[in-house]
Amino acid sequence: MNPPPHVVIIGAGFGGLEAAKRMHEAPVKITLIDRTNHHLFQPLLYQVAMASISSTEIAYPIRSIFQNQENITVLMADVTGVNLEKRIVSMGDREIEYDYLIVATGSQNSYFGHAEWTKHALGLKTLQDAFMIRRQILLAFETAEKLAPIQPVDDLLTFVIIGGGPTGVELAGSLAELSRRALSKDFRNIRPSSAKIIMIEGAPRILPPFPEEVSRLAEEKLRSFGVEVLTNTFVTDINEHGVQIGDRFIPAITKLWCAGVAPSPLSRVLGEQGVRLDKGGRIVLQKDLSIEGHPNVFAIGDIASYIQDGKPLPGLAPVAMQQGQFVGETIENQITGKDLKEFRYIDRGTLATIGRSSAVGNIGKTVFSGLLAWLAWLFIHVMNLVGFRNRMVVMLDWMWSYVTFQRGARLISDRGHHGAIDVELYLQEAISKHKQALGSSDGSGLELVSEEQSDDGKVSVPSIE
Ligand SMILES: Cc1cc2nc3c(=O)[nH]c(=O)nc-3n(C[C@H](O)[C@H](O)[C@H](O)COP(=O)(O)OP(=O)(O)OC[C@H]3O[C@@H](n4cnc5c(N)ncnc54)[C@H](O)[C@@H]3O)c2cc1C
Repeated sequence: MNPPPHVVIIGAGFGGLEAAKRMHEAPVKITLIDRTNHHLFQPLLYQVAMASISSTEIAYPIRSIFQNQENITVLMADVTGVNLEKRIVSMGDREIEYDYLIVATGSQNSYFGHAEWTKHALGLKTLQDAFMIRRQILLAFETAEKLAPIQPVDDLLTFVIIGGGPTGVELAGSLAELSRRALSKDFRNIRPSSAKIIMIEGAPRILPPFPEEVSRLAEEKLRSFGVEVLTNTFVTDINEHGVQIGDRFIPAITKLWCAGVAPSPLSRVLGEQGVRLDKGGRIVLQKDLSIEGHPNVFAIGDIASYIQDGKPLPGLAPVAMQQGQFVGETIENQITGKDLKEFRYIDRGTLATIGRSSAVGNIGKTVFSGLLAWLAWLFIHVMNLVGFRNRMVVMLDWMWSYVTFQRGARLISDRGHHGAIDVELYLQEAISKHKQALGSSDGSGLELVSEEQSDDGKVSVPSIE
């Protein structure tokens, strides 16, 4: 008997996971490869970044998801290459052959060619990014509290969000709540509620992919939370001290980047082998989501570009999920000789949350907002989380913050991976300036020590890596 066809899936995000699940009874052997050991529910990442929920509530081990699916092997590895001619996937030194390939590696942040901005404006894509943002924001308040008696701290208490898409809006709304509510009574030298939150969007309105009415409602709501919304505005420079927009410089230590995404680098690897890419670098798909000239190779989700009704589908979780299910079915149909179909995305509506009990969204042309939209958003997100425990814990966390206005995940303890963190730099500069002004080396009583050294009685600031 011939061995079953080998299906290799690269990426266990929304698309890859659905494809693998759809083939649970197919006569195939599946290898699912991901560089992390967990599936990440990215739509709730901003809640980790804003200290509302903890990371384990939105990340689930891939192995556990498939422990009962016998036709699947999970590998934790970084895919470094694909050879379409030889039908080989490389993971550094290790190679595996495939009969069918599904590329589902998603997207990454794009800084529009300004690599130097990456270290000043944190993006939000992975758990590590969320930890870094949470750490940066909480440290900004801590540092401001420490320095407020000796110098102005406006730049520490100014938060600039670059990009007014759904992630930017969610971050801005949540940051407004954090500063106006959760932290409002915790400090003595500063007033967190006076923190400035500025959102910058290049398009004429925020939430550009949504209907105009949704954008208007979202902007109104953000303004009511005290967020300054700048539209038709382009960032021309970002450095450690702030953000330049035309003639205006906004002094801000914390800058968050929500402005652009680019496909995962694997699209370029395929492009170099003659695969057609669109102008944003995404893989152009056939009607059955395969790649032209390679009926056994599929791309799904954020890495791919599928034109429906004259427009490319947006980079959304439901698009990736529906494409994953479709490709799983298509491969099974190819193997069992059944008829093949054309993919068609079914849009069930889009929602974006702006904060406590407030969201905006649309189903077709119907726009809705407020508590109802927020409850719908909450229900959909909780139901889509992997794992019953996660659903329960997230529900409890949200109920807790709803009633108490508190954030459960406010500890500063994570070690980050970013090389340069502005708060620490700022603090060191501020301390040395202050010491110089006093003409002494220890007159300020301020010392920068790491968490490990902090039991020596000195005022301590957690160190950042
Ligand atoms: C902060 C944020 C908020 C969002 N909010 C929403 C929302 O509210 N609603 C919505 O519909 N969509 C939202 N999205 C978009 C949505 O998450 C994406 O459209 C969706 O995740 C795309 O699914 P995917 O399968 O293509 O890729 P992903 O889900 O990103 O999965 C890609 C997987 O590939 C793995 N991978 C990447 N490269 C490699 C490699 N070389 N080797 C091995 N593994 C690799 C990654 O580790 C990851 O697990 C949001 C995205 C972000 C970042």
